[in-house]
Amino acid sequence: MKTTAADAFAPPTGDMSKEDFRRFGHELIDWISDYFEQIEGLPVLSQIEPGELKAQLPPSPPEKGESMAAILADVDRLIVPALTHWVHPSFFAYFATSTSAPGIFGELLAAAFDNKAMLWRTSPASTELEEVALDWLRQMMGLDAGLSGIIYDTASVSSMHAIAAAREGVELRIREEGMSGRADLPLLRVYASEQAHSSIDKGIITLGLGQRALRKIPTDSEFRMDPKALAAAIEEDKRNGIVPFCVVATVGTTSTSSIDPVPAIVEVCERHTLWLHVDTAYAGSAAVVPEFRHLVAGCERADSIVTNPHKWLFTPFDLSVLYCRHMDLLRRAFSLVPEYLRTPEQEKVRSGSDYGIQLGRRFRALKLWMIIRYFGHEGLAARIREHCRLAKLFTTWVEGSPDWELLAPVPLSLVCFRACPQVEAADEPARNLRLDVLNEAIMHGVNSTGQALLSHTKLHDKLTLRLSIGNIRTTEKHVRQVWELLNEQLKLLRSTRE
Ligand code: PLP
Repeated sequence: MKTTAADAFAPPTGDMSKEDFRRFGHELIDWISDYFEQIEGLPVLSQIEPGELKAQLPPSPPEKGESMAAILADVDRLIVPALTHWVHPSFFAYFATSTSAPGIFGELLAAAFDNKAMLWRTSPASTELEEVALDWLRQMMGLDAGLSGIIYDTASVSSMHAIAAAREGVELRIREEGMSGRADLPLLRVYASEQAHSSIDKGIITLGLGQRALRKIPTDSEFRMDPKALAAAIEEDKRNGIVPFCVVATVGTTSTSSIDPVPAIVEVCERHTLWLHVDTAYAGSAAVVPEFRHLVAGCERADSIVTNPHKWLFTPFDLSVLYCRHMDLLRRAFSLVPEYLRTPEQEKVRSGSDYGIQLGRRFRALKLWMIIRYFGHEGLAARIREHCRLAKLFTTWVEGSPDWELLAPVPLSLVCFRACPQVEAADEPARNLRLDVLNEAIMHGVNSTGQALLSHTKLHDKLTLRLSIGNIRTTEKHVRQVWELLNEQLKLLRSTRE
């Protein structure tokens, strides 16, 4: 990082001088601006070897403070090469996400305010802005007014809290007596499809329910939960004395972005009085686009819904939202107010720490509020709509080529596909094995160019390439480039194998 300021060291006591703060602050914003301008020249995937960064850093802390100029120079020299650039427009791996300028400003201000939003009085702004921003988001997504929102860091944590609230509703005094050493406790069951995200498994493990408490329901040929199989599993469990209490449906699964049939699943839940939690971590943002709102159909009857603005709403990591219809149960599961946190207004206000395991909470609502205000509902919808258009365009190229095939429907901005050239093989499993090796080599070939990044999954036992579009900077040019890179790699690998 080029800094013009003379060596600036910390004064003997107190923080940085206001002159240095102002100067480095301006230089840092200039640096970030240059970073975005020059990012396409950087390799998307970090090119360092494991341990390389650690080996270049001193093993012990400096005795005396160092100059800000030296620290920032090391960001350039050491940190940037060790970054995988999630904000690169050709980052197509996992779920592509992105930060945005108003989001960065929101983070900067939140760091400056450094509020711990544990009680209303420790941060009225954070507490009340959170309620307002989440209600705006709820309206933009077309969700039911009976849902109240709360911000956590990640969807993993949001879902864990939802399952904890659902368990609290079972009235088995688990909060008071726990689950261990209790002969009176039946096996409690949660249901999710075999395509559900691993965070559901982890939430169940964390809550002490044990992995056997999670029953995986089969999916159909398009990777959607089979509601008939769900109903049958619940009925079988009940006959065996097991107590079902929660179903997790997914709108936008991680591997393929498949959409579980929530309207049919909610019927099953209502019939058996089970809590329905819907994981829309990725796809929920698409509901801000009016023509995609049908994707959250049935969610108006759900008990809780998680959505991640840090995935596809241009919000810097982290910010996950849990919408819940039974905030009283969430509160009952987690509220605990020791004397030192008692306040005169506590009965009249909401305090974030009553709704989760964290006491102090970051002022995350600020960045979301700024993003919604800066882009507006229309602006957010336009960007998501464009990502879906690009995914459809890429899909037409895959479908139009004899060398490639689609492996899952493309409801939004994720394309699952593979190269499928003619290969000699004794049977279908042998052919798939050869294609797995080929596709893995194509993916590593593309990724090692540094010009784009893809990730993979397995679908019906086939290695599947995933192209996810969700970065605010991604344009048609980048999607065309990665298609060319894929075809170059295929050609290269074919010629070396012939
Ligand atoms: N749920 C789904 C459907 C996801 O795709 C993911 C991550 O990709 C998660 C949950 C976990 O998200 P987080 O990293 O916010 O915990």
